[in-house]
Amino acid sequence: MEKDHCISRLVFLKGASFAAFAGVAGRAVAADNGGVDAAQTGEAQLSQRPWLSTDVLVVGGGPAGVCAAIAAARNGAKVLVVEQSGMLGGMATQGLVGPFMTCYDKAGEKMIIRGLFEEIVDRLVARGGALHPKGVFGNGPYSAWIPKGHDHVTPFDPEELKVLLDEMCAEAGVKVLLHTTFVEPVVKDGRAAGARLFGKGGYRCVAAKIVVDATGDGDYAFRAGVPCVLGDGNGRLMPATMFFRVCNVDSEKLIADIEANKHTFHKKDGVSYRGFHWYVTKAIEAGEWDLPRRCLNMYRGVGPDVWLVNNGRIPGVDATDSESLSRAEVEGRRQTKVMMDFLRKYVPGCREAILMCTGSTVGIRETRHVSGEAMLKVDDVMNGVVPEDSVFLAANSVDVHGGKNNPMVSSYKTINANWYGVSYRCLVAKGVENLLLAGRCLSGEPAAAGAVRVMPPCMAMGQAAGTAAALCVKTGSTPRTLDAASLVKTLKAQGAFLG
Ligand SMILES: Cc1cc2nc3c(=O)[nH]c(=O)nc-3n(C[C@H](O)[C@H](O)[C@H](O)COP(=O)(O)OP(=O)(O)OC[C@H]3O[C@@H](n4cnc5c(N)ncnc54)[C@H](O)[C@@H]3O)c2cc1C
Repeated sequence: MEKDHCISRLVFLKGASFAAFAGVAGRAVAADNGGVDAAQTGEAQLSQRPWLSTDVLVVGGGPAGVCAAIAAARNGAKVLVVEQSGMLGGMATQGLVGPFMTCYDKAGEKMIIRGLFEEIVDRLVARGGALHPKGVFGNGPYSAWIPKGHDHVTPFDPEELKVLLDEMCAEAGVKVLLHTTFVEPVVKDGRAAGARLFGKGGYRCVAAKIVVDATGDGDYAFRAGVPCVLGDGNGRLMPATMFFRVCNVDSEKLIADIEANKHTFHKKDGVSYRGFHWYVTKAIEAGEWDLPRRCLNMYRGVGPDVWLVNNGRIPGVDATDSESLSRAEVEGRRQTKVMMDFLRKYVPGCREAILMCTGSTVGIRETRHVSGEAMLKVDDVMNGVVPEDSVFLAANSVDVHGGKNNPMVSSYKTINANWYGVSYRCLVAKGVENLLLAGRCLSGEPAAAGAVRVMPPCMAMGQAAGTAAALCVKTGSTPRTLDAASLVKTLKAQGAFLG
């Protein structure tokens, strides 16, 4: 278990009644006595009135958080989503991560992650911002020629996604606060009751009936005292990767090169030798490649000459620590330069390639796994267990990067059954009432989380958590006491596929 030094910093609102919010986000700071001085915590805040009151507070606006917010609002709740960056979408936009991994069953016959995810895909496709997964297959350019588990991925344009998510939140009536960082939970009598935030206006205290932790890192849950495991529990975390996008690629040449050589793709001692390993070997010999990879994988993007590179590996990064995260950003950019120089020098299809952009944040695969009322087990994922209170189904493989002592190693296990289910109780935080989890920080064994950490399952989790939050508000239940059958019924009625 991660050492919890934050419990002493819990903010208890003993008996403080939250006055209904009467202002708007744009109020002058001087007139806003809800703003909290940096030095004030605990007792000092008791007399403060919240700056905002909401039914549902979603912390983090990534794939999980944005779906939680939209789902909660569509189900009648007043919703506030707070996001530390300047955009919604998390890794999909800031991190430039793509494509959306598969949303189909293992047989590749049926789209099983539907609901809000499907709506987002359809709306992107309609505006030219994505290719529908039904026509995208593994072992081809859109899946970096990876055959296993890579049928029916969804290539998308992150710029279109940014705008679409803004639109969908506005349509649903979600209040979005960007450039606003969650700092501290407000916990009253063991119940999540709001949060202390920091943004350009300083510190702010927000009251909420239900909180959804969609920070990826489980920041809210951790600071509220919910037990968490960092990485595999023994200090090992999956490596980080700086994603980048390249344009002006001669796609025909690049594809021909890979097609002519893909019969040489192999894995040896857990290390992959895939895209361009034949050039990487030469670059290593010339002292022009010092990355912990033996290949360079490129995914075709939306647009004739646009490709995504998901290839660098930065081991030993703890993204819950700013110093470690800062090192990762710098190393990620350095690795990008090495790869761009390599592409231009060695890969005929990339002689004129241009670096479009690196992620505005380095890609983080793993941090905390938060404890919930239930825990997703890797055996259940592998063997296709579908609990009665499943809130989504998925067939994503167990994808764990980085071996014990070797960042080059990875393990990718496709599941034995056609799909598995994830219990609602994996989204209900343990020990603190009124707190739901969505996305990468769900309650799961590290390897099981390694399967559902990809974006389509995270969006399905978000939809489930947001719908649950709204039902709690409507019925006066807590997430723990909510009737899971009514949640499942609502999700089905709203487009989720649950078998
Ligand atoms: C290198 C890499 C490659 C990947 N490849 C793929 C792929 O090909 N396909 C796929 O589907 N998935 C892929 N994934 C997985 C996927 O991108 C993430 O696991 C997924 O985005 C997790 O969604 P999330 O909403 O839980 O978290 P995130 O996407 O991390 O979103 C969390 C959001 O919360 C915000 N936040 C965090 N802390 C705070 C705070 N304290 N206050 C306010 N806001 C906060 C963040 O800014 C962010 O916007 C990859 C991941 C990585 C890192």
